[in-house]
Amino acid sequence: MKNEDFNWITIIGILIAIVLVVLIFRVIFFIFGFLWKIISGFFMLLWKGIALFFGFLWKIISGFFPFIFNVIKWIGLFLWGLFVKFLKWLAHAAGEGIKLGLAKIGAAIIASLTSMCSVSGTPVTNDWRLVLVDIDHPLQEEYVESIELATLENNEQVDARILDDLNGLLEDAVEDGVDLYVSSGFRTSEKQAALFERKVTMLMNTKDMTRQAAEEQVEKILGKASYDEHETGLAIDIVPQAEQDMQAMLAWLQDNAWKHGFIQRYTEWGQVITGMEPNPTHFRYVGKEAAKEMQNEQITLEEYIDPVLRATEKMIRCATEIALDDSHGYDQGERDGPDYDCSSLVYVCLKRAHVEIQWEPHTTHNEIESLEKCGFIYIDDISQACRGDILITDEHTGIYLGDLTTIEASGNENGKSHYGKTGDQTGKEIAIVTYTADKLSKRFSGILRYVGK
Ligand SMILES: [Zn+2]
Repeated sequence: MKNEDFNWITIIGILIAIVLVVLIFRVIFFIFGFLWKIISGFFMLLWKGIALFFGFLWKIISGFFPFIFNVIKWIGLFLWGLFVKFLKWLAHAAGEGIKLGLAKIGAAIIASLTSMCSVSGTPVTNDWRLVLVDIDHPLQEEYVESIELATLENNEQVDARILDDLNGLLEDAVEDGVDLYVSSGFRTSEKQAALFERKVTMLMNTKDMTRQAAEEQVEKILGKASYDEHETGLAIDIVPQAEQDMQAMLAWLQDNAWKHGFIQRYTEWGQVITGMEPNPTHFRYVGKEAAKEMQNEQITLEEYIDPVLRATEKMIRCATEIALDDSHGYDQGERDGPDYDCSSLVYVCLKRAHVEIQWEPHTTHNEIESLEKCGFIYIDDISQACRGDILITDEHTGIYLGDLTTIEASGNENGKSHYGKTGDQTGKEIAIVTYTADKLSKRFSGILRYVGK
């Protein structure tokens, strides 16, 4: 029995020992598990912290590079602008022939490199009657030296070469019972400077404007010294004699001035091109032939002397008329009129603007390659869009009016491309649309710019 007792005790002892060992192991596992959680948690935290820190660092660095890149680009563009100015100056000195060629190359390069949108025409002739003087085109010294003046009865002066036509105009008016006179003709650069300064000072005093703001406002009414066409002797301000009716005089001038070679230079419809406030009493001599064409075609001097500007503005007018006329809507079923789709709208307006294009079939798929062969350049950057550019992306195209505004044919009244009713039922099928810069850059990816052949 002693042995048996011993055995029982041994077995119980062993069992207790096993239980104890298991318990101890569990406690040890628990402790190590706990420790592991603490340690691994700490390392995870550390890792996250490091990742966050480097991520932040990367953001700063990667954000910085485009900034540096932009700064370099700006400096580059500025230097390039100076270089082209120098080229133009050089070309001017070298003579008319080179001037045209270089100016054109310069303009094309500038157009392809920068977003400077110059709407003012670049003259392609040397005709004195068509000289362009505006905020972008100062009057050249040699031109001023060559002017010969004639003096009118009231001591105002004009270029002697326009005297006969001016007298013709005044006599013609008298015959129709309209009595008018030239209140301001030729101005010297000094006189122009004084006039400009007087207006600026007046605005600064009466409207509490800064000098810069006042100058910007006055420049929409008259030019600084050397930048106003009164200094050519070809511009005149016409007013009625005291007892005469202003409206009657303006109406008569509207119908008759062109017959004597004069045009109303700053109209409401031309404002987007001239940049000048409408001025119904300011007339400009351009010669009878040019005046007749400008009157008939309703175009500005800028367009008359610059075929590229003339074409793009004509395209814009065409598209505007179609957009505002609800008898034209969107539908691919009758895309060559009376309805249009995005590319046929661009196509028909290029045709009506007399731009020689070979673009068949006229779809967005072959638009870039077709137009590139016909005097257009492609620019892969929507932020450089200028008025008169054609905007394009994979499946869509439109015409740019400047100021983030486009004309587009977008879809029929059901938002689809086929089987709609003829005409514009929503007013949005073909419409003038204004975007934010961000939305415009998402809508279109590139620009086709007409630079001529
Ligand atoms: Zn004037």
